[in-house]
Amino acid sequence: MTDFIAPRPRSFRLPEILAAHRAHPKGATDDVALALKMGHPVAITEGSEDNLKITWPGDFTRAEKLLGGAMDIRLGNGFDVHAFGPGDHVWLCGIRIPHDAGLVGHSDADVGMHALTDAIYGALAEGDIGRHFPPSDSQWKGAASEIFLRHATDLARERGFRLANADVTLICEKPKIGPHASAMQARLSGIMRVEAERISVKATTSERLGFTGRGEGIAAIATASLIKG
Ligand code: MG
Repeated sequence: MTDFIAPRPRSFRLPEILAAHRAHPKGATDDVALALKMGHPVAITEGSEDNLKITWPGDFTRAEKLLGGAMDIRLGNGFDVHAFGPGDHVWLCGIRIPHDAGLVGHSDADVGMHALTDAIYGALAEGDIGRHFPPSDSQWKGAASEIFLRHATDLARERGFRLANADVTLICEKPKIGPHASAMQARLSGIMRVEAERISVKATTSERLGFTGRGEGIAAIATASLIKG
C-alpha cells in the first residue's frame, strides 16, 4: 500500500465524489484514493497559498483576513530638540531626572515624549503636536506632555489602529539615560496602554559633536508603527 499526501484544498465534482462515497460507505478515508478507485482521473494543479482549505471556524477568520486585502501598516517618525536652561531636573519620556540644568519649552519640554507623539501623528498623517496643541494657546504652558501622547494614541485608536511598536532614541551627553530607560519604557507603555515590550527607549551621545555634544540641549528621534485592525 502506498501512502501519499495530496495538497489541499482538493476539488471534485459533487455528483461523482458523492456517488463514490455512497458506493464505499466503509473504509473511505481519502477523497483522492476514492476517486481513483472509482476510475476518475485525478490531477495535481498549481496551487496558491491564499486558497485556504476551510474546515474549522478559525479558518474563516484567516480567509477573511486574506480576502480583506493587504494589511494597513503605517510608519511615522518624529524629531524634537529642546535647549538646556536654568533648572535642577529634566523630564524625559515621562520620568523626572535630577540634572544641573532644565529643558526650556512651552510645556514640560519632554523632548522624548514629543518625538514619540509626533511619530504617531506622522503615521496618521495628522501633522504634529503644534497642530493639535498650538504653543500660542496659554492653556498648554507647562503642560505635562503625556496629554499630547495620550491624545495621539487615542486618535490612532479612534481611527482603528493599534500600536505595533515604538522606538525612541534620546541624544545627549548628560544626563545618563541608561539607569532610567526601563522606567521610561514602563511609563510610556502605561500612558499608551500597550505592552512594555512594544516600547523601546534607548540613548546615544553624539561623540561631543554638535549642539548635543556641547551640552546645549537634548535631541530625540522616534519611530512608531501602527496596524489597522
Ligand atoms: Mg518639543
